[in-house]
Amino acid sequence: MQLIDGKKISLELQEDIAIEVTQMMASGLKQPHLAAILVGNDGGSETYVASKIKACERVGFKSTLIRLPDYVTEEKLLQAVHDLNNNNDVDGFIVQLPLPRHINEHKIIEAVKPSKDVDGFHPINVGRMVLNLPCYVSATPYGIVHLLSAYNIETSGKNCVVIGRSHIVGSPMSILLAKNTALGNCTVTLCHSKTKDLISHTLKADIIICALGSPEFLKGNMVKDGAIVIDVGTTRVASTETKSGFKLKGDVMFDEVAPKCSYITPVPGGVGPMTIASLIKNTLLAAKKDIYK
Ligand code: NAP
Repeated sequence: MQLIDGKKISLELQEDIAIEVTQMMASGLKQPHLAAILVGNDGGSETYVASKIKACERVGFKSTLIRLPDYVTEEKLLQAVHDLNNNNDVDGFIVQLPLPRHINEHKIIEAVKPSKDVDGFHPINVGRMVLNLPCYVSATPYGIVHLLSAYNIETSGKNCVVIGRSHIVGSPMSILLAKNTALGNCTVTLCHSKTKDLISHTLKADIIICALGSPEFLKGNMVKDGAIVIDVGTTRVASTETKSGFKLKGDVMFDEVAPKCSYITPVPGGVGPMTIASLIKNTLLAAKKDIYK
């Protein structure tokens, strides 16, 4: 079994980006700039945004954090989005999800200018991804594809099961892996909460992407020998072992599954750092106007 070290690959990717940023600025181009809107003070969201800002510092990007209270109106949030759309110094920005229930998430995502949508959530970017056109690919699936490639994991002709069909992880992941591209060509089965006899699918899978948000859901008896398992899940569970009082748990029962795998990602240190690296990569593409001229 080989552990896939997402932290290492993420830092390597960021080192390459940092070199490119230094070169860009030496040639007189402006410093790439990522902005984030954070609504409320949910602990998980605070941590994710802090990691994104830290990554910006690491690669030499400028970053701006816009904090809004959890009672912010949809109108005010839309105004903040429009301001960033029109701010020529900002290359790309994200609105950290989830949003409070009184705000229509789709309306906010659709308000982001596609050329600045470095999270790759806007329908234009999702549609372009499906059609194999230049776009920002949603950060988590993009990071997973990069991880598979970094470990020279062959995807062509493999049976792949994706568990979870969210718009930001499972669905785009299933599309990327099924594409006729070097990092695709899998035969993909997309499973969800209505899937019957899930184990009959996972037992046939060469690659399993677990993205449902249910701690330790995938057990050893659900995985065939030699499978590649990518654990996307990050659920905060109470813990007396940590200072913060919680621990991050993946969707995979690691101790049971790992011995059967050829490759597996840990939680933390697997997919999470790659999501950040992909966001930074998308922002670099935005700054260089590589996708939208
Ligand atoms: P989500 O929007 O809650 O979607 C969960 C999906 O899992 C849904 O499609 C749901 O099916 C499916 N599901 C739930 N229970 C199931 C079951 N028992 N059997 C099969 N499918 C089941 O979740 P998400 O936003 O994709 O996030 C999934 C997990 O990944 C969470 O733990 C999240 O924190 C984590 N995450 C991590 C990163 C990272 O960077 N590491 C990034 C994003 C998300 P239905 O559609 O039928 O309801």
